[in-house]
Amino acid sequence: MALKALIFDVDGTMADTELRGHLWAFNETFKEAGLPFRWDVETYRVLLGVAGGERRIKHFIEERPDLPDLDPSFISQLHRRKTDLFAERVRQGKIPWRAGVVRLIREAVGIGLKVGIATTTQAANVRELLVTGFGQGWPNWIDTVCAGDDVAAKKPDPEVYYMALRRLAVNPDEAVAVEDSQIGLLAARAADISTVITTNDWTVQQDFQGAMAVLNGLGEPRSLAVGDSPEGRVQAVVDCARLQKWLALTKTGGIRGQ
Ligand SMILES: [Mg+2]
Repeated sequence: MALKALIFDVDGTMADTELRGHLWAFNETFKEAGLPFRWDVETYRVLLGVAGGERRIKHFIEERPDLPDLDPSFISQLHRRKTDLFAERVRQGKIPWRAGVVRLIREAVGIGLKVGIATTTQAANVRELLVTGFGQGWPNWIDTVCAGDDVAAKKPDPEVYYMALRRLAVNPDEAVAVEDSQIGLLAARAADISTVITTNDWTVQQDFQGAMAVLNGLGEPRSLAVGDSPEGRVQAVVDCARLQKWLALTKTGGIRGQ
C-alpha cells in the first residue's frame, strides 16, 4: 500500500514540550492562583497517563483527599491560564523541536505526501509551535491540525485520528502515525494506523506492543535514530522511503507486524 500521509502527535513527538513547557506552565498557574501544591517531575510522569490538561488537574485533585476540592469552573479557568502561559513560552522560543521532525515533514510534502496533526493539546498551542518550526507559512507544510478542542473523546480514544484521516482523505493503511507515548499508540492503533514510536525520557519505559517501530527519535544524518523496526534493529535516519518500506514489511508480517 502506498504511503500517502504522515500524522504527527505534538507533545513529546514534535517537540520537547513537557518539562520546559507544560509542566512549567501548570506550576506557574498553581503559584499564581495561590494553590498549595506544585507538580514535581515524578508526579507529572504519572499524570501524563491522563490526556488533556483539565482532566489532569481534576485527576490530581481527586487522588489527593488532603487537598480541598476545586470547582469544575475554577479548574477550567486554571487550564485556560495554563494554556496562555504555555503559548507565551512557545512564542519565546523556549520549546525545543525534536531532531528530524522538520526534516521529515519537509521531505514528505516535497514528494506529495499529506501531513496532519492529531493531538490532545489545544489548537492555539499547536499553531504557536508550528510558527517556531516552519514560520508563518506553516500551513504550506501542515494540511490539517486536529486538536484537543476539536474532539469530545481524547486519546487513547481514536476520534482525533479518525478526524485526521477524514480531513486528509486517506485510508488508515495509507498513513503512518508518529507518536511518543502509549496512549498515543493506542489511539492510532484503534484507528488501524501503523505507528512509529519515538520515545523520550517521559515515555521510554511504557509498553509499545503493537507499534510498527520503536526508536529513540527520527534521527538526523549526524545522529542516527536507534531502535526496533520491521527490518529488525536499525540505526537510521527515518525518511519517507524507509517508512514506506516498513509499511510494506508490516503488511507482509514484519517482526513487529500486526
Ligand atoms: Mg505525545
